[in-house]
Amino acid sequence: MAWTDSRFDRQIRFVHLGAAGQERLEAARVLIVGCGALGGSLAMQLVRSGVGQVVLADRDVVELSNLPRQVLFSETDLGRPKSQAAQAALQKIGGPSRIEAHDVHVDADVLLELAPRAQVILDGTDNLATRYLINDYCVSRHVPWIYGGVVGSSGLVLPVLPGVGACLRCLFPAPAQVGSLESCQTSGVILPAVQLVSSLQAGACLRLLAGKAGGSEPEAPRLTMVDAWSTEVRSVSARRDPACPCCGMREFPFLDAPTENAAVALCGRNTVQVRPQSKSQTDLARLAERVRAIASAVRVHSGVLEFQVEEFHLRVFPDGRALIEGTEDPARARAVYDRYVGS
Ligand SMILES: [Zn+2]
Repeated sequence: MAWTDSRFDRQIRFVHLGAAGQERLEAARVLIVGCGALGGSLAMQLVRSGVGQVVLADRDVVELSNLPRQVLFSETDLGRPKSQAAQAALQKIGGPSRIEAHDVHVDADVLLELAPRAQVILDGTDNLATRYLINDYCVSRHVPWIYGGVVGSSGLVLPVLPGVGACLRCLFPAPAQVGSLESCQTSGVILPAVQLVSSLQAGACLRLLAGKAGGSEPEAPRLTMVDAWSTEVRSVSARRDPACPCCGMREFPFLDAPTENAAVALCGRNTVQVRPQSKSQTDLARLAERVRAIASAVRVHSGVLEFQVEEFHLRVFPDGRALIEGTEDPARARAVYDRYVGS
């Protein structure tokens, strides 16, 4: 309770938390999948609130166009893995939080590794495949997760409490049907919308973690729509669908499918992520030596090897994963990977 004496005085005075709620926050473990715009704002709120263990997972590196809305990053972080840059920024806040950073692409294997001790999973992702995977995991294991999505000035939030309310697939049975929600690349996005959505997610998360100290029993969660431009806020009840393939029929195809798609295009980024066929550490220094003769702008920065070859810009991570910029064709990217990194 040493921390709670002065640092968290104002939170303890908040009637729905109190000392018991604060202690629960400090004992809690939360996994945040993705630490860009939503994930970074979520992580900042949880660490400032004193959540004991915050686990970050992100596959990307910091880019200039992230800075207007990804609050944990600065110009000095450009090119650095987001999970590491986020961890460094969060550690400066201090307090009781232990922050774990995982520089990984979250697929079923990785989720099964990182999620088991988390009480809540927060959605900071930018893609539907990962959200359906999280939904499968959480419904199958009875773990709450909180969906958040932002585009333009508006966003959606849905806390998924398995056994209490609707899951993602009750509302959107198949990923294709929510395709219209996913157009940050075409419609842009502004920070106030990110902050609104992440704040609703973080508030719902703290309430869940506070448990009984948080007040009433959980009500069936609602789907909330917010707009930071028009200032409109709407919330509708999110009914469970008894015929839902996930929480009704208990089918979990996103979790059960073997990890495949070793090469996936990152939406609207002219970039493909390629993963190695077998899991093993890559000696980046040796690889750098090997490509130096044929590639340009070769450098190792924050543990990531970057180089330019043909019309492609490659970033190779220690786990052998690579982001290949200059194509949206997974097969082409795979070929480039095999040629310069090795399979
Ligand atoms: Zn469902």
